[in-house]
Amino acid sequence: MYNPRSLRAEEFISDEEVRETLEYAEKNKDNTELIDRILEKAKQRKGLDHREASVLLACSDKKKNREIIELACQIKKDFYGNRIVMFAPLYLSNYCVNGCVYCPYHLKNKHIRRKKLSMDEIRGEVTALQDMGHKRLAIESGEDPEMNPIEYILESIRTIYSVKHKNGAIRRVNVNIAATTVENYRKLADAGIGTYILFQETYNRESYEKLHPTGPKHNYAYHTEAMDRAMEGGIDDVGLGVLFGLELYRYEFAALLMHAEHLEAVHGVGPHTISVPRIKKADDIDPAVFDNGISDDIFEKIVACIRIAVPYTGMIISTRETAECRERILRCGISQISGGSKTSVGGYCEPEPEDEKSEQFDVSDTRTLDEVVNWLMKMDCIPSFCTACYREGRTGDRFMELCKNQQIQNCCHPNALLTLKEYLEDYASEDTKITGEKLIEKELLNITSEKVRETTRNRLSEISRGGRDFRF
Ligand code: SAM
Repeated sequence: MYNPRSLRAEEFISDEEVRETLEYAEKNKDNTELIDRILEKAKQRKGLDHREASVLLACSDKKKNREIIELACQIKKDFYGNRIVMFAPLYLSNYCVNGCVYCPYHLKNKHIRRKKLSMDEIRGEVTALQDMGHKRLAIESGEDPEMNPIEYILESIRTIYSVKHKNGAIRRVNVNIAATTVENYRKLADAGIGTYILFQETYNRESYEKLHPTGPKHNYAYHTEAMDRAMEGGIDDVGLGVLFGLELYRYEFAALLMHAEHLEAVHGVGPHTISVPRIKKADDIDPAVFDNGISDDIFEKIVACIRIAVPYTGMIISTRETAECRERILRCGISQISGGSKTSVGGYCEPEPEDEKSEQFDVSDTRTLDEVVNWLMKMDCIPSFCTACYREGRTGDRFMELCKNQQIQNCCHPNALLTLKEYLEDYASEDTKITGEKLIEKELLNITSEKVRETTRNRLSEISRGGRDFRF
C-alpha cells in the first residue's frame, strides 16, 4: 500500500506506514546503538528517512537528546550560516467558505469583521510594508471562489509587484492560498510567485475530516495532493507545514517527512520550506480545546529533527511564537522568520478597533521589524532581505543542487550583507544602523573569496551612494 512514488495521497501518506513508523520509533527509543548509527548517518549531512528521524524524535535519553540538538545546530550553521531571511504576511481577504474548526475565518463565524482589500488598499498596505523595509511577502487569503477567485489573487500579485515607493520594492511574493487546480497553479507560476505554501494542518485523514467538516477543504486527498498539482503547473518551490496542536505530533512529523520524500521521489526536488506553526488563540477559537498542544521542549526537538532529516529545506517560524521561543529555536534549525507582522486584513495601514477585528490569530511577537532586526544582529545573526536566488532562476532543483553542494553560501552570505546594508540605509533606527554597520564589517571577513569580498565592498559603498539591488 505505501508507495512514495504514487500520486495518491492514501499511498504516499499511508496511515499504515505512519503507524508502523511510530511503533518502530517507540520500540527503539532507548536503543542507543541504533540511535548512534542514525546520528552517524546524519553527520554526513545527507538527511534521514522518516523512520530514522522518528527514532530520534522518540529518543528519551537526555544525553542523546542534547547530541541531537547540537547536531541540528551544527547542520544549520553549515548550510545556512548565521543568515536569517526576513518576510511578512499580507492578508488579502478573510472571506472563507470552509468550516475549519481551529480557524476564526470559518464560515459560521458571524462576528469577525469580514474584509477584502481593494487594489488601492493593497497599494497602501504594500507601501507601509516597504516603509518598514520588507522585500519579501507571503500573501494569505481565505478560500471563497466568489469573493477571492484566482483572478483576484493574480491581480493582487501584479499590484504588489508594481508598487515602488521611495527605494522600496517587493521582490518576492510567496502565496499561501487554498489547494487549487493545475490550471490555477500555472497562472500563479506565470505571475512570478516565489514559493507556493500550503499547510497540511494534519496528515491524519480521520482527524482532518473532522477538523474540516464542511467546504472544499474537507477533501483530504485533494488537499494532500495539491503540491503535486502545483509542481505540474510549473511552480518550482513549494512549502509544507502542519498546524501543531491538532493531532499527535509524532504522527505529523513522520507524515510530513513522508510528504517530503514523496516530492523528492516524484519531482526530483523536496519542499523548499517547512513551516512549524502552533495553534493560537483567535477570535472564537480557544487552543485549549485541542488536546495535542506541545511544550517548548518538544517544539525545539521537532525543529531539530526536521533540520537533521532535511538539511536542504528552509524552515520558517512566524510571530505566532514569542521572542523567547523564537530565540531558542532559531539556532537549531530556523532559516526564515517574519517580523512586524499583522494578521488582520488591512492591518499595516490602520490598527483595528477592539470590537472590529479581522485578524486570523493573536501575534505573540509584537515587536517592530526594526526591533527584530536589531535583536537578530545582537545575537550575531545576519537579517537577510535577499531574494536573489529566485530572481536569478535558482529555484527548485537548481536551488537544491547548489544547496546540496554547499555552494549557496558563496553567494548567499554577500547577498545577505548587501540587502542588510540597503535596510540600514533606508529604514533602520540609529542604534540598529550602528549595530548593523559593525556586523557588516565583521562579516565581510567571512567571505572567503578575495574577489567576491572586494566586489561586495565596492557594492556596499555604492549602496551608501544611493545604488540599490545588487546581487550575486
Ligand atoms: N485558506 C488557505 C488554506 O486553507 O490553506 C490559507 C491559509 S490560512 C490564511 C494560513 C494558515 O493559518 C492555515 O493554513 C492554518 O494552518 C493557520 N491557522 C489557522 N487558524 C489558526 C490558529 N487559530 N492559530 C494558528 N494558526 C492558524
